[in-house]
Amino acid sequence: MKFAVQSRRDDQSNELMELAKSYLTEFGLVLDEEAPDIVLSIGGDGTLLHAFHRYSNRLDKTAFVGIHTGHLGFYADWKPSELEKLVLSIAKKEFNVVEYPLLEVQVHRKHSESSTFLALNEVTIKSPDVTLVMDVELNGEHFERFRGDGLCISTPSGSTAYNKALGGAIIHPTLQAFQITEMASINNRVFRTVGASLVLPAHHNCALKPVNDQQFNMTVDHISMTETDVKSIMFNVANERVRFARFRPFPFWERVHDSFVANE
Ligand code: NAD
Repeated sequence: MKFAVQSRRDDQSNELMELAKSYLTEFGLVLDEEAPDIVLSIGGDGTLLHAFHRYSNRLDKTAFVGIHTGHLGFYADWKPSELEKLVLSIAKKEFNVVEYPLLEVQVHRKHSESSTFLALNEVTIKSPDVTLVMDVELNGEHFERFRGDGLCISTPSGSTAYNKALGGAIIHPTLQAFQITEMASINNRVFRTVGASLVLPAHHNCALKPVNDQQFNMTVDHISMTETDVKSIMFNVANERVRFARFRPFPFWERVHDSFVANE
């Protein structure tokens, strides 16, 4: 089995990375940064997002596992003190793989080529200085003209991240769905939006169409870009899925409880 390790690059994460590399090599695993079967992410959820994007071209062949060197993460749920136990389970191949849905986003431009991205958490569309104005279409039909700070389109496993901070629902990642959540929409006698998060199933799609050739900011997880010249942005549940190596049960709702409700 081939492995790679992604570190947040702080001292503790780097130290654990070196330890993990030497343990795994001792057990006969091969370090392969290009084509790993398993990727250990050491740091936080942000580190796992980096690892995901680094290997997003081989998601069907790579499984991820996260160790948190800060507080408990959603994707990074192993403690540093459990490294040896984790390494042993990897070496003995004592793990299951669980798959979570991803979001596909296609940016269609007026004068240049389209691009496609995969998001593990979410895509946000924001206008930093002026009101964002976008037509929202669901399955090709006009739904609303959105005016406000922006929109967050999230995966089920990303629903506990930015989406939650915006008041969106938490969605169990066994559901093949994506969620559209508003950021400070303008609602008055003249302008109207639905004013609630929408959860769409896998066979539905959403298109955002900028009104007035507006420049806006788009994020795909931790990656940020400025967009102009956009005709439409299409969202749907991706065919690809992310694979996590699971070594013990840690049910999603327990994870939600431990991250957001528990006092310690
Ligand atoms: P980061 O790694 O510092 O992450 C920010 C926080 O989000 C951390 O506390 C992290 O544990 C948490 N997080 C990330 N994914 C999560 C998930 N799926 N469920 C629960 N918590 C999660 O910052 P980064 O490297 O820039 O990461 C980018 C992510 O930060 C984005 O994908 C977005 O979800 C999140 N974010 C959140 C807010 C907000 O909550 N207001 C604003 C911007 C970005």
